[in-house]
Amino acid sequence: MRRLLTAVLLVAASAAALSGCALPDNSSPRTIIALLLPDKKTARYETFDRPVFEKRIAELGDAQVLYTNADQDAARQQQQAESALAAGAAVLVLDPVDGRAAASILAAATAEGVPVISYDRMIIGGGKPAYYVSFDNERVGELQAEALVAGLEKEGRSDGGILMVHGAPTDSNAAQFRDGARRVIAAAGLRVLAEYDTPDWSPDKAQAWVSGQLAQYGDEVAAVYAANDGTASGAIAALRAADVSPFPIVTGQDAELTALQRIVEGDQYMTVYKAIRTQATIAADVAVQLAAGDKPSGDTTIDGIPATLLTPVAVTVDNIASTVVADGFWTIADICTPT
Ligand code: BGC
Repeated sequence: MRRLLTAVLLVAASAAALSGCALPDNSSPRTIIALLLPDKKTARYETFDRPVFEKRIAELGDAQVLYTNADQDAARQQQQAESALAAGAAVLVLDPVDGRAAASILAAATAEGVPVISYDRMIIGGGKPAYYVSFDNERVGELQAEALVAGLEKEGRSDGGILMVHGAPTDSNAAQFRDGARRVIAAAGLRVLAEYDTPDWSPDKAQAWVSGQLAQYGDEVAAVYAANDGTASGAIAALRAADVSPFPIVTGQDAELTALQRIVEGDQYMTVYKAIRTQATIAADVAVQLAAGDKPSGDTTIDGIPATLLTPVAVTVDNIASTVVADGFWTIADICTPT
C-alpha cells in the first residue's frame, strides 16, 4: 500500500515538473486503419503495397496500421475483417480475395459506420465502398494483347496458336484483363487454342494447365497470354520443360523483379508496370481523410463510387529504362543482379 502511494506521488510530481513541456499525448488510443491484402504468392503486396501504405500512414500522423494478408483464403479474410472491426478499426482498406464474398465484409463494416476503401479489386455487392483506387484494368488486358500481337507480327508468326491464362475467377480485375485482351486478340484475327481461369492466380496451377495444353498442341503454340507475372512464371516453366521451339511470346503484369529479369534474358516478352506506390499512397491519404470523417471526392466515379484509376504502362526490353527504372520502381542494379 505504501509502495503504491509512493508511486502515485512520484507520478504526480513528475507530471507537475513536466507541465508546460510539449510532450505527445499518449493517453488517447491511436486511430486504427486496417489494411487487408489478398495474397502472398504475388510479390507486389509485401514488396510494395504494404510497406508504402504503412510508411505513408506514419508520415500523415498518429494512426496505426493493422495489417493482414489472407493468403488467398476468402474465409480467412472474412475473419481478419471481423477481427479488425472488433479491434475498433476506423477504416478498412480491403483488397478482396473474392469480390462477391467480400460483400458481407462491406455490409458488416457499413452497419458499424466504418468506411471501406475497395483497394485494387472491386467489392461486388453489400453496399457502396467509400472509395475505389485501382488501375484502368481493361487497358491492362489491351496492353498485354497489343504487345503479344505486335510481337507475333515481328516474328512473322501471326498464324500461330495462342494459349490464354487468365487470373482468378473470384477476382473482378481478372475479368476486366480478360475482356480487354480478348477484344484486341479477336480484332487482330489471331487463333486462340484454349483458355483457362487460374484458381487463386496460382503459378503452379498455371504451369500444370500449360503443360497439359503443350502435350496436345506442342510447337503450334506461338504465344501464351499470361495475365500476370506469377502465371507467366508458371507458363514459362512449362514451355521450358516441354522445350517448345521457337520459344513463344509470353505476357505478364506487375513488373515483378523476376519478370524483368526474364524479360532481359528473353524468356518473357512483356509485363505491365502499374505505379503501385502511387496507388498505396493514395489509399493511405484517403483512409486518413475518411478516419477524420471527411468524404473524399475522387478524380472520377465508378458506379457512383468516388474513385482514382491509374494508368498502366506496357514494358518490353526496349523501354525498361524509361519506365520502371526512370520511375524508381527498380534500379538497373536490382534487375541485373541475379536473385
Ligand atoms: C492485381 C494484380 C495481381 C493479381 C494477383 C490482381 O487483382 O491487380 O496486380 O497480379 O491480382 O494477385
